[in-house]
Amino acid sequence: MNHIASTVADAALRDFSRDHRFLSINTATVRKQGDLLAIIDACARAEIRAISPWRDQVAAVGLDRAVTAVKAAGLELSGYCRGGMFPSDAAHLAEMRDDNRRAVDEAKALGAPCLVLVVGGLPQYSRPGSAPSKDLGAARIMVEDGIGELLDYARSIGMPLAIEPLHPMYAADRACVNTLGQALDICDRLDPARTGFLGVACDVYHVWWDPDLFAGIARAGRERMLAYHVCDWLVPTRDLLLDRGMMGDGVIDLKPIRAAVEAVGYAGYAEVEIFSEDWWARPMDEVLATCIARHRSAV
Ligand code: ZN
Repeated sequence: MNHIASTVADAALRDFSRDHRFLSINTATVRKQGDLLAIIDACARAEIRAISPWRDQVAAVGLDRAVTAVKAAGLELSGYCRGGMFPSDAAHLAEMRDDNRRAVDEAKALGAPCLVLVVGGLPQYSRPGSAPSKDLGAARIMVEDGIGELLDYARSIGMPLAIEPLHPMYAADRACVNTLGQALDICDRLDPARTGFLGVACDVYHVWWDPDLFAGIARAGRERMLAYHVCDWLVPTRDLLLDRGMMGDGVIDLKPIRAAVEAVGYAGYAEVEIFSEDWWARPMDEVLATCIARHRSAV
């Protein structure tokens, strides 16, 4: 970031140092310490105002109980994780469509502002049982077709879709959309009018390295910046999936990124999303207290 851009961004930055009103907890962060109801209780005790739950955690307690618990605790959602995994062979297409429509319905029932999409990689990993393929280009076409189709349904329900680009190390198995620019190209093709029903989830873990990061954030603008996820990148990273760092423990320069996100008009939550065997091994209240402290000091 050059000096002028940095000055503009600093002026836009919300002050997180005094409280944690803009903190949201992605419930995967404490998934090993308790079920969704226990997580909701712990977040309410810690005066955390928002969560972003995962479908398997909701399914484990039942959608109705999850909806009731979220409302009783007075929590908002910052997103719902997750739809996607679009690439599949012909035999798994119907399963993929039904599964994604259910995800939209659940997001709506829970009051989520958006359904986060992890788009999937090659068909055999995206939808297990699909015929193996090495054609990443074909997978990317299936992703775009799948999002386009789901978007019609999501729009009819009133649920925005947030494409989350994932770090390229996950291109084969989790997501073949790997940069904000690539995600925004899809948004431009499928929703040229910028209706607000299709955008991106900007997760620093996946995009911090991108030389075009700040250009991508600016290009997203307010209509397409639907979610902001934070954690940190540890050096060394010991596991490709389960070694995310707590904010402030790694090498991501978080504040300039949040400043850029807020400079386009994003005024939502900073959602902490950490998959880490280290943090899963600690008591839930300790993890949440650390998230609050780092939200105030490092995010
Ligand atoms: Zn994320």
